[in-house]
Amino acid sequence: MKPYLLLTPGPLTTSETVKEAMMTDWCTWDADYNVHIVEEIRKSLVALATTATDEYTSVLLQGSGTYCVEAVIGSVITPKHKLLILSNGAYGDRMGHIAEYHGINYDMLAFEETEQVSVDYVDDYLSNNSDITHVAVVHCETTTGILNPLKEIAHIVKLHNKKLIVDAMSSFGGVPLDMYELGIDFMISSANKCIQGVPGFGFIIARKSELLHCKGVSRSLSLDIYDQWETMEKGHGKWRFTSPTHVVRAFKQALAELEEEGGVAARHKRYCENHRILVEEMRALGFKTLLPDEFQSPIITSFLYPKAGFDFNSFYTQLKEKGFVIYPGKISQADTFRIGNIGDVHPEDFARLIEVVQQTSY
Ligand SMILES: *Cc1c(COP(=O)(O)O)cnc(C)c1O
Repeated sequence: MKPYLLLTPGPLTTSETVKEAMMTDWCTWDADYNVHIVEEIRKSLVALATTATDEYTSVLLQGSGTYCVEAVIGSVITPKHKLLILSNGAYGDRMGHIAEYHGINYDMLAFEETEQVSVDYVDDYLSNNSDITHVAVVHCETTTGILNPLKEIAHIVKLHNKKLIVDAMSSFGGVPLDMYELGIDFMISSANKCIQGVPGFGFIIARKSELLHCKGVSRSLSLDIYDQWETMEKGHGKWRFTSPTHVVRAFKQALAELEEEGGVAARHKRYCENHRILVEEMRALGFKTLLPDEFQSPIITSFLYPKAGFDFNSFYTQLKEKGFVIYPGKISQADTFRIGNIGDVHPEDFARLIEVVQQTSY
């Protein structure tokens, strides 16, 4: 099989060294694994998320990112609470879907997929609905690539004295932020996004004082973040159930490579450069982006079909033949496709992609 780069929202292109880190078998009971790999990862994640490392802790959980979002909602929201979900895309809507499954008392403020979550609207809503106790929002809506104004949203949520849950799945590690400064109580991401690991687990970074309230709340055993955290704390990195050992080891390597690159700020800069080249050159070829530049994240970009009758499958196959896998669109209002900027992909890869697009018939 011919190798290709993944220009997708995850799983992503990973480095050779991240893949090689999976070539050893590990015993979950042994300190080599739990103390030296899992515990170090847990500490690194907190340090990446905030400078107030004493106030926060982290929990790793098997499964994809959605498992962690569901675990947080199901472990945090009790029958006495009411959750407000802010949505401008499929991942915000999925939180609503999770709340439905769990029979959670919630409201959904839905915005257009091509509009940012409106801070004024949230302010107004919270002023008129004092029964809301928690607010959940997606930072980068990977559906379109829109970046929500997290700092401003967090500010309003905190002014109203509500707890804040953030799905930072596709931004954590790629867009700088400090949980403590913003007042975020729970933040969720996964191994196979901007940290550039392979898929198999996700993680939650939580304010310790809030996590302690989660004891006994979850109606799911395997998705109980308090129970998982307590076992990891007491067992020094032990997982309750079979841990994805190879994936976890690869993740540790990915964290080391993030540090080598210069941390989140440096990675953000590379993603911005990837994005800049992609958009400038695609526009030069006549493509248009779905979103205006001021809403756009450096994570993934949606492009409109260049003309009526555009054959995405043929375009996709031609690019794949030449070494690049792109992604279909995910919204109903417009025909789009997406190109991701994250993973072990660099400005020179995007320059090459553009040459390939030029040689493609579409
Ligand atoms: C990737 C992603 C998720 C999780 O999706 P999974 O398919 O469960 O990994 C959730 N939210 C956002 C914003 C994402 O980008």
